Amino acid sequence: MDPAVDGWREVLAPQALDLALLAAFIVLALVSFFRKSIALKYVTFVASVGYLGFTKSSLVSVSDVFRLTDLSVPEFKYSLAWYGFMLFVVGSTVLWGRVYCGRVCAFGALTQLMDPIIPRRMRLEIPVRIEKHANLIKYGVLAGVVAYFLVTKDVAGPIRYAEPFWMFGLFGTPAMWAGLAVLLVATVFVRNLYCRFLCPVGATLGIISQLTTVFRIKRWAECNTCKICEKTCEWGAIRGPLIVKSECVRCDDCERLYLDQKKCPHWLILFKRKGNTAVPVSNLS
Ligand code: SF4
Ligand code: SF4
Repeated sequence: MDPAVDGWREVLAPQALDLALLAAFIVLALVSFFRKSIALKYVTFVASVGYLGFTKSSLVSVSDVFRLTDLSVPEFKYSLAWYGFMLFVVGSTVLWGRVYCGRVCAFGALTQLMDPIIPRRMRLEIPVRIEKHANLIKYGVLAGVVAYFLVTKDVAGPIRYAEPFWMFGLFGTPAMWAGLAVLLVATVFVRNLYCRFLCPVGATLGIISQLTTVFRIKRWAECNTCKICEKTCEWGAIRGPLIVKSECVRCDDCERLYLDQKKCPHWLILFKRKGNTAVPVSNLS
């Protein structure tokens, strides 16, 4: 073996801790997703902000989308955690939709951690007809930054203002910090404002989700008329009987409701039809 070329032992040793922490985080995220556990979801949010955000600054950025256009990816064997993370993000999106946005992305986790703290009366509910159009803005942002990059090849200029993810590395300019402050204050009033309406990465994953999503959220026949899930979804992703895959972040809220035999009309109708007078039980905590 050429002594100038590292063997796998030398390559893996410095990356082992990084890979182990990433694997532990992914297991946590997936367990919280499959168990539909609110408590574990919030543990995942805290881990995401602390580990992926402030410790590693590992967020999928629109610059990762640019890499696909010129194939400027890092060298595989020295960047195993990066490849593992990207594989998880793309793979989970193809399989289940925007799980990355719903519980892995540190910025999305941060804004979702604001949800239980901010009183409901401070929140502005966006009417469906406005939401339907406003969530197209992020596709316009994506098209704009990709076009700008293709023409200029510049990633250090105005494109930096399209994402707030630099905040985890604490390296913004005064103008960027001012923009972030405005965004976070606006998020107090409009839940997950950036994710729902502005994020180009969310738009990219939304396109992949719309085209793929192998394992979709089930719907009952009763969903055609019942509006309970639609009102529960805080991402504007349920429109009548349809789940809009590009907007759904697999937050579990509707799935928890839909499995709840005490709240979902599907189960209540089923019990009535069977002539069962026993009160069904809520099967999720
Ligand atoms: S929409 Fe953007 S900021 Fe929000 S969770 Fe997804 S990638 Fe993160
Ligand atoms: S409530 Fe349901 S449809 Fe809405 S984002 Fe969550 S999982 Fe998706």
